[in-house]
Amino acid sequence: MGTPFSADDYADRLERVARAAVGAGQDGLLITPGPDLAYLCGYEPPTTERLTLMVVAADREPVLIVPRLERPGAEHCPGASHLRMLDWTDGSDPYEVAAQALGGSAYAISDSAWAMHLLGLQRTAGGIAYTSMTEALPMLRAVKDPAELDRLRAAGAAADRAFEEVVQLPFAGRTELAVAADLARLLREFGHDTVDFTLVCSGPNGANPHHHAGERVIADGDMVVLDFGGLLEGYGSDTTRTVHVGEPTTEELEVHDVVRRAQQAAFDAVEPGVPCQEIDRVARRIITDAGYGEHFVHRTGHGIGMSTHEPPYLVEGEQRQLVAGMCFSIEPGIYLKDRFGVRIEDIVTVTDSGGERFNLTTRELTIVG
Ligand code: ZN
Ligand code: ZN
Ligand code: ZN
Repeated sequence: MGTPFSADDYADRLERVARAAVGAGQDGLLITPGPDLAYLCGYEPPTTERLTLMVVAADREPVLIVPRLERPGAEHCPGASHLRMLDWTDGSDPYEVAAQALGGSAYAISDSAWAMHLLGLQRTAGGIAYTSMTEALPMLRAVKDPAELDRLRAAGAAADRAFEEVVQLPFAGRTELAVAADLARLLREFGHDTVDFTLVCSGPNGANPHHHAGERVIADGDMVVLDFGGLLEGYGSDTTRTVHVGEPTTEELEVHDVVRRAQQAAFDAVEPGVPCQEIDRVARRIITDAGYGEHFVHRTGHGIGMSTHEPPYLVEGEQRQLVAGMCFSIEPGIYLKDRFGVRIEDIVTVTDSGGERFNLTTRELTIVG
């Protein structure tokens, strides 16, 4: 499928984010293991308490500080040729090594950095003001390049195939967990490397947006919210469809149609330059006008890439503008307590003239058996 990212791809990203850091008033960035590090050099070390830290600054070569025992692995990461590598040994103070690699007085640090590492840096490099990455550079990975878009498109298509297969299987008489297991198996079968979530929320459980899957036996007449995704070649899928077991009532059809119209209108509003909050407002207006406003209890969407939830967030108050290449979910829902819920979710990217969906399965109410 996708060709691996090259050392030059990583060099371009490092250069771009170093410039962005300056634009955000930072002397540099401190990157710890996780999606930011994988994005900038392709290095995905084991999660341990030992300090691994990349220092990116505009005026000098990026530095990767690793525990000595991890060095052979780090030297083989795809972006290694553009990094200066430093190591530290057990028994020495890794924060002393890190302090020597820092210049200036303001750094943004990965949101997922361990508190013990930040505290260690504050001890040895105390003159520096540390800011969270979300505050300083929220859009670090938000605009995807064409190769990333290909991966997200492939992940969406694989999730769509899993949906198309799962609705052929019986629902009535089986537990949510059994359907969730089928979804997980299908996601893997169609190319996912990891399955991160398979929510199967039947009947009243659908009214809880983050119900997972449990022992409840699905019955004829149930609405069932299916929300599932994982990673394919390092990039995420995340789609939701609501299906119905047997004939739906007029009310169920109506609620589903309101959500479908809200989702469509929000998609139609996608265009470069539109504030993120506007997408949320468009979806919310339709649901509110239909009388269900208080039952739409979450934001309209979240960015997606190497992690399932990342900026941009489509939420009231987020005034940053959409940029071509951004990818996010559009997932309005209506949740009627103790009765049922409906959510419809696609991953969408911003193009030069509008939006493109990465999920293309029907958004009409699918009837299952
Ligand atoms: Zn029903
Ligand atoms: Zn989802
Ligand atoms: Zn989502």
